[in-house]
Amino acid sequence: MFLTIPSQPVPIQEIPLDKNIKLFIKREDLIHPLISGNKYWKLFYNINKYLEQNPKNPFLITFGGAFSNHIAAVAALGKLAGISTLGIIRGEELISKWKDNPTLLFASRNKMNLKFITREEYRNKEKLTEFLQHEFPEALVIPEGGTNQDAVEGVKMMLNDDTKDFDYLCTAVGTGGTIAGISKHCEEYQKVIGIKAVEDSSLEDKIFGLTLKRNFNLIDSGLGGYGKIKDENVLFINNFKEKYDIPLDPVYTGKMMQKVFELIDEGYFPEKSRILCFHTGGLQGIEGANMLLIQQKREIII
Ligand SMILES: *Cc1c(COP(=O)(O)O)cnc(C)c1O
Repeated sequence: MFLTIPSQPVPIQEIPLDKNIKLFIKREDLIHPLISGNKYWKLFYNINKYLEQNPKNPFLITFGGAFSNHIAAVAALGKLAGISTLGIIRGEELISKWKDNPTLLFASRNKMNLKFITREEYRNKEKLTEFLQHEFPEALVIPEGGTNQDAVEGVKMMLNDDTKDFDYLCTAVGTGGTIAGISKHCEEYQKVIGIKAVEDSSLEDKIFGLTLKRNFNLIDSGLGGYGKIKDENVLFINNFKEKYDIPLDPVYTGKMMQKVFELIDEGYFPEKSRILCFHTGGLQGIEGANMLLIQQKREIII
């Protein structure tokens, strides 16, 4: 097994509230320094099963945007495991300036080959996947964000006896694999809340297709679409770090926590609720976000 199950589970930390509600955060961001958060568990079975087949020239191919946590995780994994990696990146315009992007620079320094394609081509990823798998029959082609059925099974590792003690399980949602895994593997008395980091009307059906359960609720963050950063969220992230000493990222976990706080204030959760939020990682994205914020002469993430 290349990705292993740590002997010590990651901590579950309380976020103290002056309310009759208990809020906790499970620190999956601490699972691995480079293969962070949910991406570790989403890759867990994908990689371990692939390596068990003993491919002669192991080769990972995957997809992502310029700031993708998944691209960073796969690149780091490839380097650590000695596997060649290819990242298909959305946005042809990046060819001339990808070295200014900390995520892509990190990926390249971890020996990932980068191929930039137009947004149009990127939308037709399924076709490209077929072509690549045909071209490289031995390669493992992992979909965008790492979401597939093996990823959904891997997310089960984020749940254990301690997480059974909560009424609500909350996570940020991108491609939907993580919330599908939580929904599929949680206890029947638990409700799953997904805070959307993307505007995608097909998410609900996609998640249902992976979990086949209706125990989840998708909620808009109200903090802008994918990758959009609002000043109020930067402020929230910085206050959160100061108060609780827990860093959050601006694409997923920062938006999730701010929205969960709002839901608590609005009375969304009944009295005595016990809420668990998953910190799914993504902290590598802060550097790239700060570069944009500095260009725009705005407050940065501390
Ligand atoms: C990728 C990612 C998500 C979204 O996970 P999906 O399975 O794609 O929904 C959430 N949080 C962080 C930090 C991520 O990197």
